[in-house]
Amino acid sequence: MTQAKCGTYKITYYAKDKTGNTGSAERTVQVIDREQAGIVYLTFDDGPSTTITPHILDILKEENVKATFFILNYSESTEYLVKRIVNEGHTIAIHGYSHDYYTIYKSEDIYMNNLSQLREKIKASTGVDTTITRFPGGSSNEVSSYNPGIMTRLVKRVLDEGYRYFDWNVSSGDAGGTSTSEGVYQNVTGSLKHNRSNVVLMHDFSGNTKTLNALKDIINYCKRNGFVIDKITTSTPMITHRVAN
Ligand SMILES: [Zn+2]
Repeated sequence: MTQAKCGTYKITYYAKDKTGNTGSAERTVQVIDREQAGIVYLTFDDGPSTTITPHILDILKEENVKATFFILNYSESTEYLVKRIVNEGHTIAIHGYSHDYYTIYKSEDIYMNNLSQLREKIKASTGVDTTITRFPGGSSNEVSSYNPGIMTRLVKRVLDEGYRYFDWNVSSGDAGGTSTSEGVYQNVTGSLKHNRSNVVLMHDFSGNTKTLNALKDIINYCKRNGFVIDKITTSTPMITHRVAN
């Protein structure tokens, strides 16, 4: 089943009897991709960081689960983490060489360069040519509205150029309003659903101990409650937001 068909729909039935009376009834139906139902994709943005990423990798290894890392540009001193992500079987993915909204969304070419620059670097470090990506701020961001319509043009362009992009449908809140690991745990576990795939937005930027401290409990919640944790691949159906600019 193609992902575009999945979702919640309202169906209206119309009927007319012999005497010409008409009636209608509404039903709500859910169309589910069975293969994706109950899968949890743990994703980590804005790394790698020396303070958080290695510990996240340790937990993932202990728990024997795979995740997806949407990384930013990295230095020589953190290249080992990029290699470690790949060597331990996780998906390495492109967030962007830069995360600076006021630079990267200036033009489509600047954005595409911001992607390909990091793609090339990851390839040189790991041998992996990744085409999996996530827009800084998500495809629904409005911070790019200083360049009207850029997101509408970019979502088309990245797909045309062979990338696949992933937003999220579960937010840990760890880059915004949530300041405790209990909060991160509640935000994630409270939003997981069995009738769809769940793309969980988290961050492994420096100092993000609240997510690090919640991670083991989140993984165990998934295992106890019949969810299957997996990594994003090029065949994973995209989870995307509605573009707002
Ligand atoms: Zn980010």
